[in-house]
Amino acid sequence: MDHRGRQKRFQQELALAKLDGFLVTHLPNVRYLCGFSGSAGVLGYARERFVFFTDGRYTEQARQEVTGARVVIARKAALAAAAQWAAGGRSRRVGVEAEHMTLSARAGVAKFLGASLRPSQAMVERLRMIKEPAELESLRKAVEMGSSLFGTVVKAIRPGISEAAVAAELEYAARKAGAERMSFETIVAAGPHSALPHWRASAQPIPSTGFVVLDFGVILSGYCSDMTRTVWVGRAGRAARELYQAVLEAQSAGLQAVRPGATTGEVDNAARRVLQRARLGRYFTHSTGHGVGLEIHEAPRLARGQSELLQPGIVITIEPGAYIPGKGGVRIEDMVAVTETGHQVLTPTTKEFIAIPGAGTKAAPETFAS
Ligand code: ZN
Ligand code: ZN
Repeated sequence: MDHRGRQKRFQQELALAKLDGFLVTHLPNVRYLCGFSGSAGVLGYARERFVFFTDGRYTEQARQEVTGARVVIARKAALAAAAQWAAGGRSRRVGVEAEHMTLSARAGVAKFLGASLRPSQAMVERLRMIKEPAELESLRKAVEMGSSLFGTVVKAIRPGISEAAVAAELEYAARKAGAERMSFETIVAAGPHSALPHWRASAQPIPSTGFVVLDFGVILSGYCSDMTRTVWVGRAGRAARELYQAVLEAQSAGLQAVRPGATTGEVDNAARRVLQRARLGRYFTHSTGHGVGLEIHEAPRLARGQSELLQPGIVITIEPGAYIPGKGGVRIEDMVAVTETGHQVLTPTTKEFIAIPGAGTKAAPETFAS
């Protein structure tokens, strides 16, 4: 990873924002700029150079990982040490990451920085939005691993087994395959739970008929994957197939709209329009997607009215859904990279309607949306 190149670009951003000092405290931002992957450390910038502050637990790891910054093992808290160092540099305007700083941490740094303290927003996140080739490669590998687990999870699904047990099979397979961890809490939402977009995975058994929404991802070399597939358990009626088809069409429309120069709002609208035409608009209750990288939710956000322009190197999800309260829901999610000429879908998993044999011949519901 090109840490020095990132530091250069960050310095240019700081100059544009008229900041001559900065404290990077959000760990994914620290990792992005200097390579440190541990769980405590602050990257300081002042006097046109970078210094990384951590504590004795990370002496060895910092020496191995940190690029482009001097490493200081602080005797006091890393943040206080970094603030004191930045203040000593006679910096006049020192930025801090307002979105990631508690009030007490702010009070702590203000003791050193006084009036030079400048709350700032998304300085590093803006850079992280455009992925370098090496990052795209890491994301691709994470996506491939995530996708390779889909077969395992489908095999685990049967009426009577708990949602949590399905999640456990998936997560066990992920760790065995080498995943560092899951990129977020695995969602296995069966039957009526499938109508709750952010259900997790409960002790409740999978019903003999209904949708099961599976939303999961792995972290590999620090980079996240994110995918959703929805399967049906039992004999599927027309209503279930139609709901699935409508979401699938919305998802394809969203993907088709992804290209350089399109706004994030346009992509959201492309997916949303399909569901509106199918009279399912009011059941699509969240945004169409989000950026993915070192974190599961990154810039940009693909939502109504958003005006961020897509550029080559941006990696996002496209994940429309329709959720019929009390009955069930469908979501389909892929990761996609914006390329020079359009887009490339990264997630290779099939999106065909999958029906898993249920128990007996209980009839499927005839209607979903009313
Ligand atoms: Zn997801
Ligand atoms: Zn997502």
